[in-house]
Amino acid sequence: FSTVHRSFTEQAERQPDKVLFELPDGRGITYRETAQTVRRIAARLIADGVSPGDRVAMQVEKSPEAIALYLATLQVGGVFLPLNTAYTGAEMDYFIGDARPRVLVCSPERRAEHERRAGEELVVETLGVDGDGSLLDTDARHEDVVDAGPDDPAAILYTSGTTGRSKGAVLTHGNLASNCRALLDAWRFTGEDRLIHALPIFHVHGLFVAVNMTLAAGASLYYLPKFDAEAITDLLPRATVLMGVPTFYTRLLTVDRLGPETCASMRLFVSGSAPLLASDHEAFEARTGHAILERYGMTETGMNTTNPYEGGPRKPGTVGKPLPGIEIRVVDAETGETLPDGEVGSIEVRGPNVFAGYWRMPEKTAAEFRADGFFITGDLGRVDEDGYLRIVGRGKDLVISGGFNVYPKEIEELLDAHPKVLESAVIGVPHPDFGETVVAVVVPLAGQEPEEKELLDFVADDLARFKHPRAVRVVEALPRNVMGKVQKAELRSRYQDLFL
Ligand code: ATP
Ligand code: MG
Repeated sequence: FSTVHRSFTEQAERQPDKVLFELPDGRGITYRETAQTVRRIAARLIADGVSPGDRVAMQVEKSPEAIALYLATLQVGGVFLPLNTAYTGAEMDYFIGDARPRVLVCSPERRAEHERRAGEELVVETLGVDGDGSLLDTDARHEDVVDAGPDDPAAILYTSGTTGRSKGAVLTHGNLASNCRALLDAWRFTGEDRLIHALPIFHVHGLFVAVNMTLAAGASLYYLPKFDAEAITDLLPRATVLMGVPTFYTRLLTVDRLGPETCASMRLFVSGSAPLLASDHEAFEARTGHAILERYGMTETGMNTTNPYEGGPRKPGTVGKPLPGIEIRVVDAETGETLPDGEVGSIEVRGPNVFAGYWRMPEKTAAEFRADGFFITGDLGRVDEDGYLRIVGRGKDLVISGGFNVYPKEIEELLDAHPKVLESAVIGVPHPDFGETVVAVVVPLAGQEPEEKELLDFVADDLARFKHPRAVRVVEALPRNVMGKVQKAELRSRYQDLFL
């Protein structure tokens, strides 16, 4: 067992002059420099009174120092708590009140807003995108490292809040290290890799997949403040790996010069956090020769399944097979019994990646675990004939119309196949006779104006009557959060009165 912090320290000793972060202005920051920044921040955290187990919250824009803060927190035995930079007033009240951090690191611009939170129990520090601010305003260095065990908490990460209020998932050092190792192996990730990093660092994908893997392997990051299709296309000829959410790929496909030449040094494109359109998967392969590798994970578990790096096809519309050491089963949600392959049920997962529990929510934690240790993900899926997992949607998005289950994905896939449709989201809305009924929200392909009637006719033959959408709404774009997740709750509230 080794922790992420220990792996990083080993890499910094082994190859101190290697560039860890390459910034958009061409500046490189080495492992040695990062290790020094980590020790400076650790000194600050100690001065602020952080003891093992204390939470260190961070709400800042991306910078190399923000990753150093993560490592410094682990060094002093703290629990790292990154927060979405979009959260404002009342949301921050909830997270700070819930997590009760010892230190909150915010951007200098937001100091005034957070200053009122400071007091006996909370120290407010600042960190700007250029490493400015109070956090690094010290010459002290802290050398001691708290020797964490596998079951000690390393981080609390809040879920994205797609299905309700965000929950804090307590992740242990063992969770992070085991998942990191499994992914390094599965994706053949090494110190030779140069990863394009354009994801936020307050989410499992950008932090625990992309950054942990880089640190543990001793690799380098092209570190971008945010997604920018042109900037990424410029970097592709020098990079080896891109990790993205599906919208990255939708948008990269609009860049004309993207092609086999721009991707000549690339060996892997990863997609996750939301379903990748099968049509984007196919279009990307046709354009670049690269089959995007889709994987499935969540805040509570890190990564669970992946399409193969080699030794099998990367199948569009699937999320592949469990990573080594991780068990996945599809069960009947009511009885808990495992279903035969091909049947849709509730996805459950067990393994060293599964979190310790929801922060300060013992009942919720107990309710989401089976007696045999499997975690109930809340996602629905089925295992196909090749043993690949297909995610059918979220349990909470299941539509129950007249007592019958309607899986939105089945209808979405049919709609997406219409020649005038880019993508779709199917939701259930209240209906006086059926309880709920099906509504389809459709985004047309550029320049197309599909009619409700032609879309309904297109899907009707393939669907039992109770699955037929009762209304189709054509919209310019689906509401999405920064991770590219469609906000179905927002769509439901938008159309809740349609039949009332
Ligand atoms: P909340 O739990 O607060 O409602 P959330 O589930 O969106 O929010 P995350 O932990 O960020 O928060 O997201 C995990 C979820 O993302 C998974 O449960 C799954 O529904 C979805 N997801 C992740 N990867 C994929 C994928 N490749 N295909 C389809 N869905 C995916
Ligand atoms: Mg969730």
